[in-house]
Amino acid sequence: NTPLHELDPDVAAAVDAELVRQQSTLEMIASENFAPVAVMEAQGSVLTNKYAEGYPGRRYYGGCEHVDVVEQIAIDRIKALFGAEAANVQPHSGAQANAAAMFALLKPGDTIMGLNLAHGGHLTHGMKINFSGKLYNVVPYHVDESGQVDMAEVERLAKESKPQLIVAGWSAYPRQLDFAAFRRIADEVGAYLMVDMAHFAGLVAAGLHPNPVPHAHVVTTTTHKTLGGPRGGVILSTQELAKKINSAVFPGQQGGPLEHVIAAKAVSFKIAASPEFKERQERTLEGAKIIAERLVQADVTEVGVSVLSGGTDVHLVLVDLRNSELDGQQAEDRLHEIGITVNRNAIPNDPRPPMVTSGLRIGTPALATRGFGAEDFTEVAEIIAAALKPDFDADDLKARVSALAAKFPLYPSL
Ligand code: PLP
Repeated sequence: NTPLHELDPDVAAAVDAELVRQQSTLEMIASENFAPVAVMEAQGSVLTNKYAEGYPGRRYYGGCEHVDVVEQIAIDRIKALFGAEAANVQPHSGAQANAAAMFALLKPGDTIMGLNLAHGGHLTHGMKINFSGKLYNVVPYHVDESGQVDMAEVERLAKESKPQLIVAGWSAYPRQLDFAAFRRIADEVGAYLMVDMAHFAGLVAAGLHPNPVPHAHVVTTTTHKTLGGPRGGVILSTQELAKKINSAVFPGQQGGPLEHVIAAKAVSFKIAASPEFKERQERTLEGAKIIAERLVQADVTEVGVSVLSGGTDVHLVLVDLRNSELDGQQAEDRLHEIGITVNRNAIPNDPRPPMVTSGLRIGTPALATRGFGAEDFTEVAEIIAAALKPDFDADDLKARVSALAAKFPLYPSL
């Protein structure tokens, strides 16, 4: 029972350093968040020791009476949160949730449609070297000139290619999708509709984004993005598909579930149903709007910076640097230098190579969790706008970032 600092000072030092990094910088990677201490406590609990292959009440191991309680709470809470008929809380990650859902609904060689990776889709929606691109025949759809998903193209491609599955969802897209339109098209061609709400699940839980559950056959999500829980995945489905989904997760894809993570998921679902969570998601959306509005003003457009689709309806902004001297890598590095963490991102019709890109993805969930409000996001927006200009003053911007970080202490009890 030797504590980590004594037993393994090397790992402990890196963990400590990461805590300081999170505390002293501004985390604006759109897919990241800060898990509450109670969530981390559940995740670091003795439940990590337990094998529990199977599902609550139907396990292949003895001694599952307590993890059964935990897993059932998680299932019941997430069903209530999103109004779903059935839930599987065992996927270890979002990618595994998507793999299991596709495994349940498709045979190798079937056709799927998903948003092209460079247009904002995820690897698991049909990228060539991902399982989804290797196992299935992929017909990608795209965004149009305005930066919005081209539903006319979705309809045309669906009619031409007769997919078995249409995936609606994204990793880098600043607008809301029309789930009813996707379902109409899926029904017309006899396809399943799967919505991957990994990015915007927290907004849905708060009632600030349309809920895909009433429209889709299957909805997958991660639990660690806007939803603010531990790293993991979930699959929601109709009751009719529940059995197929469960057997695709276990034994189809996974062995023993991570019951400590499932406990942490359950805690985060409780939090996601609270009024405080809704208020946090409101600040998340407000912050993204403030940043988008700042990055379309004349002083930054003059230096070639603009915002894809002209704004945002969600928790992220996609900065278009096609006309800027700065490429995505340089812009990411410059923000890193002043203490703001973002990721470069390929944008539609990106002229620069994928490792460099002409875009930046900037998200507000983690800062909203930290407590940032409109005034703070306005200051963040000013700092980012200044940093993307050629005459930026790194020392001044660094000091302003540090002041914001100090205003909102993160994990003071750790
Ligand atoms: N689906 C979407 C839309 C995502 O953006 C991501 C992660 O970025 C995933 C799935 C995969 O989640 P994970 O990284 O937990 O496998």
